[in-house]
Amino acid sequence: MEKVLRISLLALFELHNEAMGYVYLVHLEKPLPGGRHYVGYTSDLEKRVALHRSGEGAKFLKQANEAGIGWVVVRVWMNADTDKEKSIKSMSARIICPVCKAKAAEIARQKKLLQVSRSDPSVHKPLEAA
Ligand SMILES: [Zn+2]
Repeated sequence: MEKVLRISLLALFELHNEAMGYVYLVHLEKPLPGGRHYVGYTSDLEKRVALHRSGEGAKFLKQANEAGIGWVVVRVWMNADTDKEKSIKSMSARIICPVCKAKAAEIARQKKLLQVSRSDPSVHKPLEAA
């Protein structure tokens, strides 16, 4: 049976255009003195991540590995170039990192709950004088 390669010319171009690759964001379980995020660019994400796991390719992730700090690729921008990498690096990780964003939202929610319980006398009754 004949196999049909269902791929558009544009996709084919993108596949072979070496300037195009992936920008990826790594989130560390615990921060290092240099922070808790790493942004990188690669044309082969799988290979690059495997390289980082083995301690090659980035000093920062090597330090994380050596300190026993777990890390995960939390975001990937496809069809990206090094300009994209630069623009991602200039952004605040608190905004672009889904893990940190969720954590910040949870902290804000807890604070709000605390404020509500403090201002609601039925939840937080003052002690009665003896
Ligand atoms: Zn993060």
